[in-house]
Amino acid sequence: MALKPQPGIMDVSPYVGGESKVEGVDRICRLASNENPLGASDAAKTAYRGIVDNLHRYPDGGSYLLRNGIAEAEGLVAEQIVCGAGSDELLALLIRSYVGIGDEIVYNEHGFLMYPIGAKTAGAVPVKAAEKDLRIDVDAMLGAVTDKTKIMFLANPNNPTGSYITEKELRYLRENLNEDVLLVIDAAYCEYVDSPDYISGAEMVEEFGNVVMTRTFSKIHGLASLRLGWAYCPPEVADVLNRVRGPFNVSLAAQAAGVAAIKDKAHIERSRELNARLLGWFCQQVTELGLETRMSVANFVLLDFKAAEKAAAALEFLKQRGILVRGMGAYGLPGFLRISIGTDEEMRAVVENLTVFVNGS
Ligand SMILES: *Cc1c(COP(=O)(O)O)cnc(C)c1O
Repeated sequence: MALKPQPGIMDVSPYVGGESKVEGVDRICRLASNENPLGASDAAKTAYRGIVDNLHRYPDGGSYLLRNGIAEAEGLVAEQIVCGAGSDELLALLIRSYVGIGDEIVYNEHGFLMYPIGAKTAGAVPVKAAEKDLRIDVDAMLGAVTDKTKIMFLANPNNPTGSYITEKELRYLRENLNEDVLLVIDAAYCEYVDSPDYISGAEMVEEFGNVVMTRTFSKIHGLASLRLGWAYCPPEVADVLNRVRGPFNVSLAAQAAGVAAIKDKAHIERSRELNARLLGWFCQQVTELGLETRMSVANFVLLDFKAAEKAAAALEFLKQRGILVRGMGAYGLPGFLRISIGTDEEMRAVVENLTVFVNGS
């Protein structure tokens, strides 16, 4: 008798994160995982150090101080916030709670890989909705819904494309969605967006019973290693997640650092400004080199090499020079590379090396 995992699990290709090491190269620019190049805020680091004498204690299972800190900083209702070990955990818990064997989830063509992976682990079918010019097409998303659909996932702004849909499009999507389908808006990069027609979706959570917004401390807050995220939910959904999550799913270190990070508005602002300035500068530089970029509102940008071999050669060329960026084959975009926005020095290094790559000397 052989052990047999649940249906769907063996169909999953395990998620492969961005690379972090190159053999024989000491100084590495890590531009493959959209991390904050400034690191965490000093206040968060101090809070992290401050818990060392309580390592033997269980954390607060309800993440009370953290939820209240988030609610105050973002103007939200603390009772509707559920914290998790990264937003990845919350996305997985939503699937576990609402999606079963034979059900379907809908996601956008170049959406975050954790949505189809999560669906498959539940024995469900991930249904991909075509994008238009690397941007979510809300009509295609609605067209992909069937009576088996339980969750519609979208990242806004989207990773890896860097594009976003407007408040109008988001509301149109919700309005035309059956009330028994959950709309999950993954707003991991929302802090970087500076467009008047963009909303994170928090206000829609408060207006409707079938909208959830997820957020992360891994990106602008620079706490990816601690694994911390949160979901803003209608009260009924928060109640469900609080039943299925582990009782101590968020570590004490993550709670302490998270409270400090969300209050450190200066660090958030510094991170946002650095990103906006370097995103603009980098796109201009590579455009002058004759490379094509896609418009991005986040902390990364797609470079279009037009051919898979060319993109692979550029990836390897940069890697040999200590610069790690992300290949896009797994996202169905093999002719592209995704480059996270790093520090001034790092972005200058990328431009210098791409100049050599393009000019061939
Ligand atoms: C990085 C990222 C996240 C964050 O995941 P965590 O588990 O919170 O680190 C979520 N969604 C998208 C689209 C991302 O790119």
